Amino acid sequence: MMDTVANSGDGIETQQTIEFRQSQSIISRLAEYTTGIRSENPGMGKFLVKEHDKYRREYGLPAEILKVVRPDEYEGYLKNLMAELGVKVVDKVNFKDFFKDHPTLNAAYFLETRTIAFDTRRETDDMANNFVRLSAFEHEVVHALQDIVTPQLELGIEQREYRALVVGFLDNVLEKKPTALFEAALKSLMEWQKQGRKFSADWTSAEWWLKNVDKITN
Ligand SMILES: [Zn+2]
Repeated sequence: MMDTVANSGDGIETQQTIEFRQSQSIISRLAEYTTGIRSENPGMGKFLVKEHDKYRREYGLPAEILKVVRPDEYEGYLKNLMAELGVKVVDKVNFKDFFKDHPTLNAAYFLETRTIAFDTRRETDDMANNFVRLSAFEHEVVHALQDIVTPQLELGIEQREYRALVVGFLDNVLEKKPTALFEAALKSLMEWQKQGRKFSADWTSAEWWLKNVDKITN
């Protein structure tokens, strides 16, 4: 389900491709880079719902409904999983300075020390609050799995972020507003960049697409 503007070769089609690439939004570029499909494609919502299930299975995550109906059990499961892999799980208060420097982050995984920091304190039975808190934890668990489980080691930061986010988004959001996923991914990628991690390719530029994907050179 790759998106194409037109087959190159014909002069008019080549011109159209160049114009499209120059006007393509960064969100659309990120979507196409990570999934092969543009965010504006009408089939994107349904595709993401399938990806959501696929990656939840692949990472061995428990049924989502548990985040709401049995949050303690869900949290316990993820904590055990991390303990088995030697990942430390601590409260955010232990990384006050880091979270002050990165105010948009709810949680974080520190690669060098194999540590996850998130809001470990469940103060209420507020379902929505727990869902958000556990989804933030789960997101970092996925990043830890990506670092520790071998086939994931070569994944670039774009693919890591995409997969960690798609497992946490609700199906109805993915279906109704698929661009929200890529907006969130772009925000996270900016954080990764601030921390010195590099993009896998120059996909933010029109020239990269024209040369490497559309095979138009001049
Ligand atoms: Zn992330």
